[in-house]
Amino acid sequence: MTGERGVSFTINRVAVVSIERPEAFADALRRLPDSVNKCVCCSRKIGRAPLETPAAILIADESDEMPLGIYSALCEACGSTKPKIEVIETWLTGLYDMYGGLDIPDMHAPGRA
Ligand SMILES: [Zn+2]
Repeated sequence: MTGERGVSFTINRVAVVSIERPEAFADALRRLPDSVNKCVCCSRKIGRAPLETPAAILIADESDEMPLGIYSALCEACGSTKPKIEVIETWLTGLYDMYGGLDIPDMHAPGRA
């Protein structure tokens, strides 16, 4: 690993923004990094255009003051068959294992304008 500059932010909260809330969803989709290009559950290709639009976007971040966050996408099939709480738990556990905690290093911050 190169370029690690310590903790960038700490996951304090998790949100699921579904397409049922169009305004919040459009906002989340705008911030979705290009690197997020598949469903977090089944790896189906979804993400920003030209890919298929996700049914929900998962966001783990610190606070409203801290713009950095980790994003994931959920496809329509998984969004309608899997309990959201289960999806979030699995996702968070994966993040926790990957980063060894909820402190997210700088190098993993998504590219934001
Ligand atoms: Zn899926």
